[in-house]
Amino acid sequence: MMRIDILTLFPEMIEPIIKESIIGKAIKENKIEIHVINFRDFSNNKHNKVDDYPFGGGSGMLIGIQPIYDALQSIDKKKTTKVILTTPQGQPFNQMKAEELSQEEHLIIICGHYEGIDDRVREHLVDEEISIGDYVLTGGELPALILVDAIIRLLPEVINESSHQNDSFSTRILEHPHYTRPAEFQGMKVPDVLLSGNHKLINRYRMKESLRNTYLKRPDLLKNYSLTDKEKKLLQEIIDEEKQNNKK
Ligand code: SAM
Repeated sequence: MMRIDILTLFPEMIEPIIKESIIGKAIKENKIEIHVINFRDFSNNKHNKVDDYPFGGGSGMLIGIQPIYDALQSIDKKKTTKVILTTPQGQPFNQMKAEELSQEEHLIIICGHYEGIDDRVREHLVDEEISIGDYVLTGGELPALILVDAIIRLLPEVINESSHQNDSFSTRILEHPHYTRPAEFQGMKVPDVLLSGNHKLINRYRMKESLRNTYLKRPDLLKNYSLTDKEKKLLQEIIDEEKQNNKK
């Protein structure tokens, strides 16, 4: 079973979330083990202080290396344990990284806070630095939860595999639109083809609309995607249709 340890100063930001929904169910069903560790408990300062002023001056408080080092020492590690630092300076997190991490046996995720963490943690104690996007948050707790959520749904039998295999980014492009009953609501109709029962046509529609979504919303993804001959033909149809639509 995969194990994740999350090192944080704010366990209350993590614990309620991992009790709920699909993550909570995966924990209850022993598909994953998650430990939330408050590294303040490892501070050797008599007031349990974990932060201090940065050397050289400057604003903000920095989390020191000692409590994180001791918290890491307290965790039973496997040969393959991977220590991840959440930081806006890390490699951008994406579906490929989630797939890679979902294959690991044991992850430790460190959440920074305040101005960040003494850089010796990054230099000596961490295997990987991950960012969840080009913006700065107050702490690593939301990033850690994002990593955990994206990883857990890829573990075997957590959700129906065919459902995440077709998701946006799992296919490396965006997914097609979905609709459910009623077939018509206040004059808004679902595409006729989805009601036709013709699975060949439905598959063609889905492939085409997945390409259309990507072409219109995230054309950058198509640059690294190798199109099959069928997809090339559909994409050309989309480009022609969109040109026609723009002329109208
Ligand atoms: N001073 C740091 C810098 O400019 O790189 C930013 C520190 S940030 C205010 C505090 C903590 O939030 C970081 O140590 C990290 O754990 C977390 N954090 C903030 N933004 C993040 C992001 N985009 N991705 C991952 N972690 C982030």
